[in-house]
Amino acid sequence: MKILISADMEGATGVTWPADVLPGTPQWERCRSMFTSDVDAAVRGFYDGGADEVLVNEAHWTMRNLLLEDLDERAQMLTGRHKALSMVEGVQYGDVDGVAFVGYHAGAGTEGVLAHTYLANQITGVWLNGVRASEGLLNAHVVAEYGVPVVLVTGDDVACEDALGYAPEALKVAVKDHVSRYAAVCRTPARTAAGIRAAAKEAAALAVRYEPVPGGPFTVAVEFDAEHLAAASTVVPGVERTGERKVAYTSGTMYEGIRTFKAVTTIASAAVEETYG
Ligand SMILES: [Zn+2]
Repeated sequence: MKILISADMEGATGVTWPADVLPGTPQWERCRSMFTSDVDAAVRGFYDGGADEVLVNEAHWTMRNLLLEDLDERAQMLTGRHKALSMVEGVQYGDVDGVAFVGYHAGAGTEGVLAHTYLANQITGVWLNGVRASEGLLNAHVVAEYGVPVVLVTGDDVACEDALGYAPEALKVAVKDHVSRYAAVCRTPARTAAGIRAAAKEAAALAVRYEPVPGGPFTVAVEFDAEHLAAASTVVPGVERTGERKVAYTSGTMYEGIRTFKAVTTIASAAVEETYG
């Protein structure tokens, strides 16, 4: 049994505000070890539950946050960015039986600690076939295309609630309770690690690949906080303006859908100037 862990940072233990997740800041240095503790607990739990292989895919920002030297020695880690499937890179290898979303968070424009979808501020909403979409929901549709179930989700309580929509069967572990976008009641790493390890052990039983059912077409709508970002993103083929601050595109598969989303976010973030952004 092989497990893929997609590890994002905003939903990690102790993380509540931008400096905690911004590479290079002293706060980020401190929070890296709590983030690593969450991921390590999941690795250990999956091995407790019978996994033979656990691959950790870094999914936050520069994708260079986790402390490899502090992970259980049985784990392997995919570090660095520019990957075909970004946050769920590795699922396309065809040998993954279950995926875990560790450190996930609520989507743009909704309540939740550091809630966003890809871009921290510039995207105010994403919808997939009319349903408001978090990164978890988008990535769940990507992995479903490969017949791989999402078996574990960790993050704040709102991220866990969000996961009820896209992975009802998955085990959920709330490492903190949302108070505002920049505040949460946090549990200690010792406590969250114990909870994540126990949940991952149980979740291993859900890691059973299935015959995928084509779910497309997928229409993705994106709303920005400024008009010029919608305009800029229409350089991506297939992306059309649907409103003053909105664009949409339709893809036959989520493989294409998530890659086009990546192109849209890359173009939009390049169009942001330092002031008047
Ligand atoms: Zn994220």
